[in-house]
Amino acid sequence: MRYFSTRDRQRERGVPISVAMAQGAAPDGGLYLPETIPRDLAEPATDETYAQTACRVLAPYFAADPLCDLLPEITREAFDFAVPLSRINGRLQVLELFHGPTAAFKDFGARFLASCLQRSGSDKPRTVLVATSGDTGGAVAGAFHDRPGFNVIILFPSQRVSPLQQRQLTCWGANVRSFEVLGTFDDCQRLVKEAFANRDLAESLGLTSANSINIGRLFPQIVYYFHAASQVVKNGGPAAGFLVPSGNVGNATACVLAKLMGARIGPIVLSCNANQTVPEFFAKGIYEARPSVATLASAMDVGAPGNLERLEKLLADHDTLSRSVRAVSVSDVQIAQTIRKAEAQGGHAWCPHTATALYAFEAMSNKERQERPWVAVATAHPGKFAEVLEPLIGRAIKLPVTLDTLFERPVSSERLAPAMADLEAALIV
Ligand SMILES: *Cc1c(COP(=O)(O)O)cnc(C)c1O
Repeated sequence: MRYFSTRDRQRERGVPISVAMAQGAAPDGGLYLPETIPRDLAEPATDETYAQTACRVLAPYFAADPLCDLLPEITREAFDFAVPLSRINGRLQVLELFHGPTAAFKDFGARFLASCLQRSGSDKPRTVLVATSGDTGGAVAGAFHDRPGFNVIILFPSQRVSPLQQRQLTCWGANVRSFEVLGTFDDCQRLVKEAFANRDLAESLGLTSANSINIGRLFPQIVYYFHAASQVVKNGGPAAGFLVPSGNVGNATACVLAKLMGARIGPIVLSCNANQTVPEFFAKGIYEARPSVATLASAMDVGAPGNLERLEKLLADHDTLSRSVRAVSVSDVQIAQTIRKAEAQGGHAWCPHTATALYAFEAMSNKERQERPWVAVATAHPGKFAEVLEPLIGRAIKLPVTLDTLFERPVSSERLAPAMADLEAALIV
């Protein structure tokens, strides 16, 4: 299988998956997609484990790559936590993607990528550089922490991550260094881009990308859609609809790929917050980046969604697809209402991102809700957003045990002015 940039229209510069994973974005600024979408997957084994599903679904993407034979080991190592579905009512289930070590779905992509890169060999040490607005940095740090041959550098915006997220970004030590950038998330992203563009620096540090446009983070997210669809759709009933909280639209793109690969998936609804770029793209067919606005679902505060170029290409290449994919915008007031209602009706606390998907379900017509099973995707543990939730539901939320242990560790970070010269000076020591 070869990989082409979304901007390489003549398909002239294909690369193997190992190159696509090490580079992140393609050199022309586009995003990598496989030359074909595999459709003929192996038959599932009876009582297939999650790691076995992952191997079956991902093997075609690694065809002819040395990592293909290692997928059983990689998927066992990366996905060593539960991926449960919980039932809300007759027609709605929630796919809980927050049982990994940092309690958000970013663990799936970060852990799989780390397990792959570790085995894709390099005699030189590599440096994983990421900008984060919250959950990505913690997941990437956790996935690469203590892995020989890797250093991790995290850039996060000062004063703009939640207290718990800040702890998660700064508690690792050893091969992980965290920089509190005196600027915005956009400044952090710009510094990362400049570092990759600086050939001498990139070469001397062995810079490696782990951001959410990396195909190595996208592919593992396809697996949980197969896993959920096969559990929810029984005996030839209607395909399941999915409601996917969306910001940079990586998670929703993975859902679309799963559908194209033949998973029993019907309509896909991207639930966004008040940031309008994605809903507007679906309404008008035009992609126009905007400055992001701050909302209760902060991990989705994205004005220029990185993965949209990939989603746009998939929709353009598969014309029947666009009828079954749509986006809705959910306001902070609606998020807060949904959180209160779920607590009042079932004693469930859901994070603000998950609440956008639950709201999107409520907002559908009765007919649409009843005609098939639906799955709302839960992207983070509610305890990560206690400062939003606790005033709304009037009770404390228990953190998962994995986060409790993170809190026993000492924290450390370095402050950094948002300038390339300062980052370079800090990295070259
Ligand atoms: C990253 C994130 C999202 C958005 O996912 P995308 O793949 O960027 O659309 C939603 N919820 C949480 C909790 C996240 O961390």
